[in-house]
Amino acid sequence: MNYFWSKTISTRSTILSNPIEYLKGVGPLRADMLKKELQIFTFEDLLHHFPYKHLDKTSVLPIGQISPSMDHVQVRGFVVSMEIIGERRARRLVAQFRDRTGLLELTWFQGINWVQKTLAVGGEYVVFGKPGFFLGKAQMTHPEMESVKDANVSGKQHLEPIYPVTEKLKARGLNGRALGKLTEQLFLVLAEKEIPEVLPRFFIVKEQLVPRWMAFRHVHFPPSADSYNQAVYRLKFEELFTAQLRLGMLRSARHRFSRGVVFSKVGEHFNAFFHGHLPFELTGAQKRVLKEIRQDTATGRQMNRLLQGDVGSGKTIVALMAMLIAVDNGFQACIMAPTEILARQHYDNFSALLSPLGLPVGILTGSTKAAERKKILSGIQDGSLKILVGTHALIEDVVKFNNLGLAIIDEQHKFGVAQRAKLWAKNTTPPHMLVMTATPIPRTLAMTAYGDLDYSVIDELPPGRTPILTVHRLDDARPQVMDFIKAEIQLGRQIYFIFPLIEESEKLQYEDLMQGYENVKAWFPEPQYWISMVHGRMTAEQKEMNMRRFVNRETQIMVGTTVIEVGVNVPNASVMVIESAEKFGLSQLHQLRGRVGRGSEKSYCILLSGSKVGKDAKDRLSVMCATNDGFKIAEKDLELRGPGDVQGTRQSGALSFRIADLVADRSILEKAKVYAEQLLGLDPDLNLQENAPLKNFLKAEKGGTLWGRIS
Ligand code: ADP
Ligand code: MG
Repeated sequence: MNYFWSKTISTRSTILSNPIEYLKGVGPLRADMLKKELQIFTFEDLLHHFPYKHLDKTSVLPIGQISPSMDHVQVRGFVVSMEIIGERRARRLVAQFRDRTGLLELTWFQGINWVQKTLAVGGEYVVFGKPGFFLGKAQMTHPEMESVKDANVSGKQHLEPIYPVTEKLKARGLNGRALGKLTEQLFLVLAEKEIPEVLPRFFIVKEQLVPRWMAFRHVHFPPSADSYNQAVYRLKFEELFTAQLRLGMLRSARHRFSRGVVFSKVGEHFNAFFHGHLPFELTGAQKRVLKEIRQDTATGRQMNRLLQGDVGSGKTIVALMAMLIAVDNGFQACIMAPTEILARQHYDNFSALLSPLGLPVGILTGSTKAAERKKILSGIQDGSLKILVGTHALIEDVVKFNNLGLAIIDEQHKFGVAQRAKLWAKNTTPPHMLVMTATPIPRTLAMTAYGDLDYSVIDELPPGRTPILTVHRLDDARPQVMDFIKAEIQLGRQIYFIFPLIEESEKLQYEDLMQGYENVKAWFPEPQYWISMVHGRMTAEQKEMNMRRFVNRETQIMVGTTVIEVGVNVPNASVMVIESAEKFGLSQLHQLRGRVGRGSEKSYCILLSGSKVGKDAKDRLSVMCATNDGFKIAEKDLELRGPGDVQGTRQSGALSFRIADLVADRSILEKAKVYAEQLLGLDPDLNLQENAPLKNFLKAEKGGTLWGRIS
């Protein structure tokens, strides 16, 4: 769905839309490589291919002043001698190089013949490289050499851009520096008016931004480090600001134009439940979120809300009560969960809570038997069944609702956008959507990845929880760990053992799991101990049976894989043991840990690993030991892995910025968001004349993936 303008890319004809092969120095061969390797198709793409660093060639240093602490230096002088010395692997070309102040020894181990051919004894060169010292003598290995005579840039004092390239490009002679020659060429043919200003004057003045044209020029060829920083700041600001603007426009258009069913009242079921059957007092955060949902659904526009709350924060009851509001207004409601186990758990939970109200609940999963299925489908179609819980099975075409008013997705990060869209289509007027996720998304990401959704957060845990104690133990501490577990079981608690089975289909890992199961069994033999197990290769019935025995406390131990990662709620479980914990990602570890600490008992998470653990894994484990705060963990995860990898945001497509970095540039992002809101407050559709350049820019910008993402 696209609210503002059709998705035609502007036909603005500028030199920037020229195919890259039109650039001097780029023939068909190079053009091919640039397209394949760097997705550079046009002049504009090249303009947006930013250097990742600059070599400081702003000054020429007298050789006599080179010191060991220097990183890179540029000197200018004459080659006074050249000779090949050494044998075999020690064979090298050594040149003596001097200026008026001193002597520098240059050495090549590779490309000796070529260097010997191109360098002339007696010739004058500008030399750039990392200096070293040996026996008090200044040296340089594999320096860059440019002849003062034949290179027109030689002796020019500048910051030289180095571009990201691929190995393939390097092998074909298009290395990080060579690309700079192309950019240089680009700026020779590019006039200032080709890069017109797009930001409102007001912001430019207020933020002291350099003009757009200058920013592009200086990000490639800065006259100084300062001007480079200003250029980068401007481009980051522009990128984040326009992204926020686009999201803001989507959101406000949705608010203005979308039609939704109206939940005008809070009725009998909700009230009966709230006053008579609520098993606990709601937390302030839960109440607030319910209020937000209530307000949203009464407006006549479609609610599209993301509910975020750390593991164990109590999202389920909010979902249930929102469903009751739907039912009280004559609509049906459904909730979709990513696993059969979780769907079953919600079903059991909801059935128990709603039976005093005489409100039946249905469940539909891949393993629902044909007869049962038929009954459910007809109940849903004729409207007699009001509340349906299920897995992906819910979105199949055969599932036809009579009047679906609310669709909830639990653990939404496990689903794709397409699946969300299918739920929309289940009613002529799209149902209200509530997507819930326990994956805490850092604020910066949420602002960006889900900026088109309304956002609620449960930022408060139910009372009486004691924080989970997390420790990291090496494998050889196993006996002590097992003793501790036995003592916990003695106290009536239950235990999880999780093994890393990432791809359920991988045979090797399956065998590891079985081996793990046998090991656990050896420590905890029957009949004193009973063990459940769930993994992805089991049938739904087997999983269900094992889960049920654990829930009913017939077994004290659950051996499992990450199938139990999401949602599973067994408040009596107090210890989570994660085997080979170094193999899990941070947010996965946090999710797994969230399976314990759900009751009032003191809970523990024990991360087991061998003694050889990589640096990143060590970081992850120590973060886990240091904090229980899902948001802090998510921030750390973002830092360690980069935004593209943070769970639940992968398919968002909104996170690939050209120059901005969501972690490092958070403060710019926050500022950009404020400006975007300010501007849209004054001119929601950017119809003012002064905002025309900005509007045109937004229309024309490539990679406009944000259009239509919420459909
Ligand atoms: P999540 O947000 O991870 O889905 P759940 O909804 O499964 O969390 O809730 C975790 C546990 O906390 C459940 O056992 C639930 O019954 C309990 N719970 C939820 N809200 C409250 C509350 N306000 N007071 C006490 N316990 C609560
Ligand atoms: Mg949950």
